[in-house]
Amino acid sequence: KGPNKDLRSPICCILGHVDTGKTKLLDKIRQTNVQGGEAGGITQQIGATYFPIEAIEQKTAVMAKYEKQTFDVPGLLVIDTPGHESFSNLRSRGSSLCNIAILVIDIMHGLEQQTIESIKLLRDRKAPFIVALNKIDRLYDWQATPNNSFRDSFEKQTRAVKDEFETRLSNIQVALAEQGLNSELYFQNKNMAKYVSIVPTSAVTGEGVPDLLWLLLELTQKRMSKQLMYLSHVEATILEVKVIEGFGTTIDVILSNGYLREGDRIVLCGMNGPIVTNIRALLTPQPLRELRLKSEYVHHKEVKAALGVKIAANDLEKAVSGSRLLVVGPEDDEEDLMDDVMDDLTGLLDSVDTAGKGVVVQASTLGSLEALLDFLKDMKIPVMSIGLGPVYKRDVMKAGTMLERAPEYAVMLCFDVKVDKEAEQYAEQEGITIFNADIIYHLFDAFTGYQQKLLE
Ligand code: GDP
Ligand code: MG
Repeated sequence: KGPNKDLRSPICCILGHVDTGKTKLLDKIRQTNVQGGEAGGITQQIGATYFPIEAIEQKTAVMAKYEKQTFDVPGLLVIDTPGHESFSNLRSRGSSLCNIAILVIDIMHGLEQQTIESIKLLRDRKAPFIVALNKIDRLYDWQATPNNSFRDSFEKQTRAVKDEFETRLSNIQVALAEQGLNSELYFQNKNMAKYVSIVPTSAVTGEGVPDLLWLLLELTQKRMSKQLMYLSHVEATILEVKVIEGFGTTIDVILSNGYLREGDRIVLCGMNGPIVTNIRALLTPQPLRELRLKSEYVHHKEVKAALGVKIAANDLEKAVSGSRLLVVGPEDDEEDLMDDVMDDLTGLLDSVDTAGKGVVVQASTLGSLEALLDFLKDMKIPVMSIGLGPVYKRDVMKAGTMLERAPEYAVMLCFDVKVDKEAEQYAEQEGITIFNADIIYHLFDAFTGYQQKLLE
């Protein structure tokens, strides 16, 4: 029996500390066993890679010795941009951008700062996740069997290698417990709801990669609600807003559920109010072997979830990354949908201090803005104004109004955004501090340090 046509593919995100091997792991999953042959239907999409079930079957074949396998879903969509940039689009409310996440931990380094940050995000978002305990090939004297299942490879190791593995694993389990997480090697995990599953992997030798794919399928098929697995109403999230030659401003979208069609009327959240427009073109990248063709993109009349797709349409300049995209159906009231999409942004305005005292916060996406606001709330720092996108002089001027009223708040916290030259000069001349970083915890550290210095 083949995959059910009405089922949609689960979506997976990868996150973790820098250099733990997120990119390399994705590359390894992408690589096909047939050297130089067809990519087995694995397709590069906008901001994501699609793995059809046939490719996954092939890659998980070595698991048959250990586990029963089911292949109900049509495939797996893995979001490409690893790290917080894309993950922060996974918001606490209303987004199904990611059904399951892989948290990568380097077995030689254990928990690092971004690992802990990621755990907090995952917990806040109530996102199910598994741990890839990567770089097992770096255990001293590890004997590699490329692309093998972990258990089979592990049995072949010497006592010393096994001991080193056990020691490192148990240290990491203790560290995870300190973060409030009970964990278990995935094949010893009797209670997936209570314990986080750990999959030992090597992105270099490919060992444990079959285990990882098997577990992703297993968990999503068993634990995603049936409803979630069937194609129904449109659910889509804007990942990025980009100007593309020949298309003007486009949006990169992950379609988590339903269909999108050329000509569809869509409603999205804009920085200065709702945007209503029609889809002019639905685009995915040209397959590699077709690159000599003139166009970089393939046009589609219709696309089906789950996939990453670029949308060309008018009036997309002010679209907000991280927000939802809605399609106006025959029964829908356009005005209602306009209110709906704007709720994503206006909901965050509740965090703004009505007395007009506090810091100014600016971020690249709705999700990262939300994360910053959560952080400031924990710190009990009031927020006077929030914004999305690049920082201009007028934004700095807002922070400037604090210089007289509450100089300790004459500060801007900016995440992953460009600061305009003129804005920068103005801030320097007026004595307004701009904190800008593209790693959230760097921003938090810098700001916490500044607060402490003020107290002294
Ligand atoms: P990212 O920052 O998490 O995306 O990490 P990368 O995928 O860029 O990997 C960081 C470094 O670790 C690179 O030099 C990789 O070659 C190396 N690396 C990643 N995974 C493994 C692994 O499983 N084993 C070994 N030995 N090296 C790895
Ligand atoms: Mg990387």
